[in-house]
Amino acid sequence: MQRPKALALVSGGLDSLLATRIILEQNIDVEAVHFVTPFCRYDCNSLNRIFKDFGVKLHVIFLGQEFLDIVANPRHGYGSQMNPCLDCRILMFRRAKELAENIGADFLVTGEVLDQRPFSQRLKAMLLIEREAGLEGRVLRPLSAKLLPPTDAERRGWVDRERLFAIRGRRRIQQIELAKKYGIKDYPNPSGGCLLTDPAFACRVRDHLSYEGRLTLDDAILLMIGRHFRINGVKVIVGRNMEENNKLLAIAEKSAKPYLLVSDYKGPITLIAGEPKPEVMEKAAAITVRYSDAPRNVPISVIYRHREEKREMTVVAAEDKEIERLRV
Ligand code: SF4
Repeated sequence: MQRPKALALVSGGLDSLLATRIILEQNIDVEAVHFVTPFCRYDCNSLNRIFKDFGVKLHVIFLGQEFLDIVANPRHGYGSQMNPCLDCRILMFRRAKELAENIGADFLVTGEVLDQRPFSQRLKAMLLIEREAGLEGRVLRPLSAKLLPPTDAERRGWVDRERLFAIRGRRRIQQIELAKKYGIKDYPNPSGGCLLTDPAFACRVRDHLSYEGRLTLDDAILLMIGRHFRINGVKVIVGRNMEENNKLLAIAEKSAKPYLLVSDYKGPITLIAGEPKPEVMEKAAAITVRYSDAPRNVPISVIYRHREEKREMTVVAAEDKEIERLRV
């Protein structure tokens, strides 16, 4: 008889690694899938290494515009910041279901822990996600399984429910003990995997959506670079280091957007992501000077470039109070 096969959804944190190990111990074939979004900060290399050690094939799926459309307009709303976790999980489960069908997996496994997260890991939310993804009864959560209704995998005898767990809530004592038992040491830190849960980043996304109403992949890239300012409705982005300056310059040239730089001192590239109205340019130039090596309180020359056009203007560095007023 063919062994049952599971597809494990792995976020990169310890819980999903444990869930995978628990199921492997039950003599089940496992493949894993990791979803990457434009706002995800996990290092896939360390995940690849861990799953290689497990002897488990890891699939990596990028969720692009489909995910961004959800961020712009989630049917089930946001979590504590701009994280649309319910809709995001529904999308991930749907994509995982397709993959499971392609690789012949009989059920899905996740590292979710009941009541660990207030928005997406309550029982009601878990059942809703399953239902909307067309996966009712086919998602096994080994860490909390004994607190949840039996799934198909348990009912069919593929998985022994007695060897699963009844972990609930945010405390991680049992998970750390299990990690020791399985010799899992080098796991990625679960905090901060998704930028949308970061309050400062969520502010940027909220501001962007309130002006633009939608989010593209190019917007997502820009949201993750530099210091952001909103001047008379126009977004202005100032590089924080050489890497960001190079990226902003490349974007400006590729998308024919105007940019500024201080002419005689080291300083940032400032991208103007909107109409370069004179009042916007003057303030943007003053901010550019403020973040350059140029002295304060004296007029400094700033170069404006847009396609073939090049001109110079002279401004004094913006004051800190003004900078804070305009910062997003
Ligand atoms: S934290 Fe981010 S990646 Fe994770 S479920 Fe929520 S929106 Fe999706």
